[in-house]
Amino acid sequence: MYILLMGPPGAGKGTQAAMLVEKFDIPHISTGDMFRAAVKEGTELGKQAKACMDAGQLVPDSVTIGIVKERLAKSDCKKGFILDGFPRTIEQANALDSTLGELGIKLNRVINISVPADELISRATGRRICKSCGATYHITFNPTSVAGTCDKCSGELYQREDDSEETMTKRLSVYSAQTQPLIEYYQDKGLYTEIDGRQKIDKVLTDIVASLRGE
Ligand code: ADP
Ligand code: AMP
Repeated sequence: MYILLMGPPGAGKGTQAAMLVEKFDIPHISTGDMFRAAVKEGTELGKQAKACMDAGQLVPDSVTIGIVKERLAKSDCKKGFILDGFPRTIEQANALDSTLGELGIKLNRVINISVPADELISRATGRRICKSCGATYHITFNPTSVAGTCDKCSGELYQREDDSEETMTKRLSVYSAQTQPLIEYYQDKGLYTEIDGRQKIDKVLTDIVASLRGE
């Protein structure tokens, strides 16, 4: 199953991807996670990405396309993948088309998780992530049983630097200008499904799975 998860920042892509990984046993490929890992490692890529991420801007297409191409060529992608946060521009979408063509892969579905902008701000500012296992929580909508501690591995939770209200507002305007046009791009290909992301986390998953099964 080759799935592309789209949606504005904070829509719930990572949350849903974690559950889809368990259900379909396919890798989760998140460009945001890849950039955060590079920042943590202090590589050249990480330095370049950090400047863009801190400003709420996209990392340049040439860089982003390069790391995704490399990732998709790995053998674990032969059984499928969940691509999260890529493509974010028309240029990235065109590059993805040609890379998938070269690999002989056809996307099964493009799922867009739709959530209104005002809710996205509170989702991002309340988002907390486990330092050890990467699990995502929300202080109000999806809290841990013990505040600040991961339910899955007891790791410590942290807040992303770009989840401030100011940077999130910037990220949302970048989304509208550069990523939203991809909705029409995938509608034209007949691959697009919109899911109401305002629903409870489990119901969003049920709707995604139903769409993937063609129900
Ligand atoms: P994305 O990967 O699209 O940026 P996340 O999956 O990290 O989004 O979710 C953003 C925040 O919203 C997280 O704090 C998460 O716990 C919370 N969240 C995810 N899905 C829902 C939902 N359906 N209802 C309420 N909060 C949600
Ligand atoms: P995310 O974790 O998906 O919210 O992404 C966090 C940040 O990483 C974004 O605000 C961008 O700066 C960068 N990023 C992630 N994916 C991409 C992409 N496909 N193209 C450009 N920049 C990206």
